[in-house]
Amino acid sequence: MTDCIFCKIINREIPSYKVYEDDNVYAFLDITQVTKGHTLLVPKEHVTDIFDYDPALAGEVFARVPKVARALEQAFPEMQGLNIINNNKELAYQSVFHSHIHLIPRYGKSDDFSIHFGNNQEAYSSEEMQAIAEKIAKQVEQ
Ligand code: 5GP
Ligand code: ZN
Repeated sequence: MTDCIFCKIINREIPSYKVYEDDNVYAFLDITQVTKGHTLLVPKEHVTDIFDYDPALAGEVFARVPKVARALEQAFPEMQGLNIINNNKELAYQSVFHSHIHLIPRYGKSDDFSIHFGNNQEAYSSEEMQAIAEKIAKQVEQ
């Protein structure tokens, strides 16, 4: 896509710090380095977000996540954890609309990354939980 910053990075029209590349994916350092080694893994094909993948491309891209994760772990033995984040659509913090997976190494509780998981367990009865699960299950493609 002509106006996409990540397509331009993949096509070398914009420089990047490359970490890994093969026929299907490109991985490079996120410019903001939320933590040291913060890496983005992207499909070379322009797909907007998770809703835009076909199964084959999803397989190619997501199969590379453990490869890059292990590389980070080997490169930074002081790493104590790894957050893998994939933002989809603006409300969910997506700012570049070429799908990408963030790999964010964690070095300690005071490093520059945080995430909040609320707990709304008490808001749902078991019947409501069952109804929610069934509503989703009906839509999962077989
Ligand atoms: P999102 O907010 O869409 O999940 O993540 C987009 C990421 O792309 C951000 O973390 C941002 O720092 C990164 N980013 C945006 N522009 C560039 C760029 O030109 N080069 C690199 N390496 N990263 C970029
Ligand atoms: Zn693109």
